Amino acid sequence: MVEIARYNTWFKKNPQIKFSNVVSSFYLCCILLAWWPYEQAIAQDGQSDDFAQSAVKVAINARSAQIFDSLVAFRRDLHQHPELGGNEMRTASKIAEYLLGLGLEVKTGIGGYGVVGILHGAKKGRKLAWRADIDALASDHPDVVDFESTVPGVRHICGHDVHATIALGIADVLASQKEQLQGTVYFIFQPSEENVRGAKAMIADGLFEDISPEEIYALHVSPYPEGIVVSKAGRIFADFDEIEMVFTKGKDSLEIIDFVKETLNGLETIENPEIFYDPMNFADPEIGLVSPNTIYKDYVSVHSGYYIRDRDGELAISANIGSTDDALLKKAKKRLEKEIKHSKYSNSFLGITYSDVTYHPENDSGLTETAARSITENFGGDTYFEQYGIVSGAGDDFALFQEKVPGVYFLLGASDYEKDIIAETHSPHFQVDENCIKTGTKIFSTLLLERLVPN
Ligand SMILES: [Zn+2]
Repeated sequence: MVEIARYNTWFKKNPQIKFSNVVSSFYLCCILLAWWPYEQAIAQDGQSDDFAQSAVKVAINARSAQIFDSLVAFRRDLHQHPELGGNEMRTASKIAEYLLGLGLEVKTGIGGYGVVGILHGAKKGRKLAWRADIDALASDHPDVVDFESTVPGVRHICGHDVHATIALGIADVLASQKEQLQGTVYFIFQPSEENVRGAKAMIADGLFEDISPEEIYALHVSPYPEGIVVSKAGRIFADFDEIEMVFTKGKDSLEIIDFVKETLNGLETIENPEIFYDPMNFADPEIGLVSPNTIYKDYVSVHSGYYIRDRDGELAISANIGSTDDALLKKAKKRLEKEIKHSKYSNSFLGITYSDVTYHPENDSGLTETAARSITENFGGDTYFEQYGIVSGAGDDFALFQEKVPGVYFLLGASDYEKDIIAETHSPHFQVDENCIKTGTKIFSTLLLERLVPN
């Protein structure tokens, strides 16, 4: 997951908010999420009868538990040897070795250090893909876990070591059921997600000429509590654009800067920024992300942190703008241009450019609904939550795969608030509750198994 200005923005707009507040907000989130589905959980009694009756699904659960320790060891090895986007040589080689050990067909060197493992079931059938990203991030902060990074300045603080491991866990579990498997599963291990080059490079290198999945899935660890999966149909992260406005530099440059800031702030459609940007409200049962009445929908947000540059005698001002909806964003851009052109600075105005800062996954609504039903039926109503709200300031180039193949991007809960383990991606304190490896492996092995032979 690429994070752009999310937490920086919160902290800038709410300088009083410290990391401990974020922790307590997610602790609150944990309590709320634990309390909320309680009745549903009792009603469903954990797992449905269908699940218990299915020998294959029981075997999936058993295998997920059996390989858990070795998966944790694998993840810790990746964590200790993180590699930045474009340099994932060791990581890719370890993944390929693991896949070969499972008896999968393996292709390497796709779009850089991309790896694809192909699991052929004993019987012919549908074709599905699972994607995991594998790169790490630059970070000078010391690691907060015992199995710390051995590479100075590089750390897995976005959980891609966990993603790669879960994908291998799913490959292992499904390979153990190969004789019963009807169809083909492609495991795509993508390099360079953080610099958003990897998906593009794999596609350009002929990924979808080599393989032809009918559906594609992926997950990202998230600050939600361990044991749950969250997703939504459509856009899961807000679109995020950089706007750059260029003016002739002159005596009125300071006035122009003030005018631009004011105009940009006027584009924000958030009624109460104090409430909106307060992370304490993300988990609020009435207005938070998983509430049907969420305030985190249908908005245009303007992110503080303007970049002002003197470029060859020209004044360039840029800022980031997020939106949940293309139509809203278009309207905001039109208004901005109109206000500049009608202002007293119109003679100094040289032009405006917009650039997409990242890619935002768009979940297929039918597949999201089917996946939600599958997870709930097999693992209980307290396992899956719909995220009604849309978070601003994050993205993932999994979106490029979704442009080719319909699919779903899930957020996997990976925090244990009681132990102060918060899967706060890109935070120097990022860590995960490793139980999420087992949870992800069994839930998504089951989902893929069901999607191979849909009802
Ligand atoms: Zn990430």
